[in-house]
Amino acid sequence: MNDILPGEVETWQFLEREAHRIFQLYGFAEIRVPVVEKTELFCRSIGETTDIVEKEMYTFDDRSSNSLTLRPEGTAPVMRAFIEHKMHALDPISKLYYLGPMFRYERPQKGRYRQFHQIGAEAIGVDDPMMDAQVLAMLCHYFEAVGIDSVELHVNSLGCRECRPQYREALTGYLENRLQSLCADCQRRYRTNPLRVLDCKVPTCQEATTDAPSVLDLLCSDCDVHFKQVQQHLQKLGISYTINARMVRGLDYYTKTTFEMVTSQLGSQNAVAAGGRYDGLIQDLGGPALPGIGFAMGVERLVLMKGEQGVEAPRPDVFLAALGDAAGDEAFALMHRLQHLGLRAEMAFTGKSLKAQMRRAGKLNARYVVILGEEELASGEAQLRDMDNKDQQPVSLAGIEQALADKCRLC
Ligand code: ATP
Ligand code: MG
Repeated sequence: MNDILPGEVETWQFLEREAHRIFQLYGFAEIRVPVVEKTELFCRSIGETTDIVEKEMYTFDDRSSNSLTLRPEGTAPVMRAFIEHKMHALDPISKLYYLGPMFRYERPQKGRYRQFHQIGAEAIGVDDPMMDAQVLAMLCHYFEAVGIDSVELHVNSLGCRECRPQYREALTGYLENRLQSLCADCQRRYRTNPLRVLDCKVPTCQEATTDAPSVLDLLCSDCDVHFKQVQQHLQKLGISYTINARMVRGLDYYTKTTFEMVTSQLGSQNAVAAGGRYDGLIQDLGGPALPGIGFAMGVERLVLMKGEQGVEAPRPDVFLAALGDAAGDEAFALMHRLQHLGLRAEMAFTGKSLKAQMRRAGKLNARYVVILGEEELASGEAQLRDMDNKDQQPVSLAGIEQALADKCRLC
C-alpha cells in the first residue's frame, strides 16, 4: 500500500480530472460507493473459484459478526447500489463511473499493489453492440486525452451461458492431456475454472495452451453476430483493435464482449484497463434482468506509463517578499486579497533577509515577486520582479492587485 506524495499526486489529479471530463462527454455520471461491502456480494458476483475470491480478499468480521470485505473491484458495489436504489425505475439506461481505492492481497511488485486505484465506468440497460463500441470509444478517447499512446486494444468474446459451457468442455478436454505441463495453480484451475488457465502468466502454461481451442469457434449464433457487429461499429469509428481469442477475464460475471488495453511497457502487468459485458450479473444479484458493460483502469499503471512526462505542480503566481513588520502586515493582507482573486500567492512567514526570501521564491519557482519594504510603503510603490526575464519595475500599491491579476491571466 502506497503513499501518494506531492510531486506525483499532480499526475493523479490530472488523470482523475480527465476521467471526469471525458466520461461526462459521454453522459456518464459519477457514483460513490463505500469501500466496504458484505463479503457475500463479491462471492456471488466475482465467483467463488476466482483468484480474487479464493485468495485475494481482505475479509473480516465486524463486531456484530457480519463478514465484510474491502472491495477488490468496483462493478459489484456499483451494481449493488444500482439495485438498492432502484435506479432503473428512474431511467432505463444508467451510465455510471467511479474512482477510488480497491484492495487485493496480491504479491506486491511493479504495477501490482495491495491497495490500488481504479477508474471505472458501467453502462447499464442496453444490450445493443453499439453500446459496446461506445464504451470502447470512450476508453480510447480517455487514453488519447491523457496522452498515453503506447497501448493496444484487445477484444474477445467469452460467449454466454448458452455457449460457454461447450467451450469450457472443449478446453477441459484439451487440457486433460497436458496437465503435467501446467503449474500447480493451473492444475487447480483446470478443475475449478479452466478458462483461467489461458490467463496464467507462467511461461510453461502459456506454451501448453498455444494450440488450445478458440472460444470464437464455439460461439452461438447470437454471440457471434453480436461480436461481429461490435467490430463493424469499431471499424466505422476508426478504432483499431486486435482480436485476442486467448483473453479471458479473472471475474466470472463476464459474457460476450471482453477487452483489455494492453501495453508492453509494464512487464507482465500488461493490462492497463480491462472490462467486458456482464448481461446476467444484475439479475444474479437480485435486481432486474438488465444487461451491462463496463471497464476499470488501473491508475497506478496509468501513472507508471505517464512516467517521465508526469504532470508538474502549478507554480505560484506571485511571491511577496516583505522587509520589516509594517511591510510584513501589508504583504500578508495583500496575499489574502490576491488569493481571493484566484492567484496562487505565497510569502515567507518569518522575518528573513531579502536574499533568503528571494531564494525561497526561486525554490518555489514563483512567476513574479513583489518586494515591499519601509521605503516602498512610504512611497506607495512596490517593486515587481519578473522571475523569468529578471525585469524589475515599480508598481503602484493601489493598482497592484489588478496589475498582477492581468499579468497572471496571461501567464
Ligand atoms: P491482472 O491480469 O494484471 O492481474 P486483473 O485481470 O486482475 O489484472 P481487473 O480485475 O480486471 O484486473 O482490474 C482492472 C485493472 O485494474 C487492471 O487492468 C489493472 O490495470 C488494475 N489492477 C488490477 N489489480 C491490480 C493491483 N493489484 N495493483 C494495481 N493495479 C491493479
Ligand atoms: Mg489480477
